[in-house]
Amino acid sequence: MFISLCRACGTPAAAVMTFFYAGAEVYLDDIAAPLAGGVGMELCSRHADSRTAPNGWTMVDRRRASDRHLFIPLEPAGAA
Ligand SMILES: [Zn+2]
Repeated sequence: MFISLCRACGTPAAAVMTFFYAGAEVYLDDIAAPLAGGVGMELCSRHADSRTAPNGWTMVDRRRASDRHLFIPLEPAGAA
C-alpha cells in the first residue's frame, strides 16, 4: 500500500510526469509505484491532462488509453 498525492491539488495521484532531459521529452505514465525522491511529479488525472510540455519539449502520454478524458473515481491508493 502506498499513497501518492497530486502535487498540484493533493487528491490521490493517478499519473506521474517525468522529465527526460537528454531527449527534451516529458512522459506521462500511470502511477504504479512510489516514486523515488525527485524522480517524477505525481499528478491526478485532471492535472495530468492539463499539463503541457515546456517550450521545445515533447509531451509523450504513455498512460492507458482507457484512462484518458474519463472521470476517474477515487479509489483506495495501492489498489492497482
Ligand atoms: Zn491534481
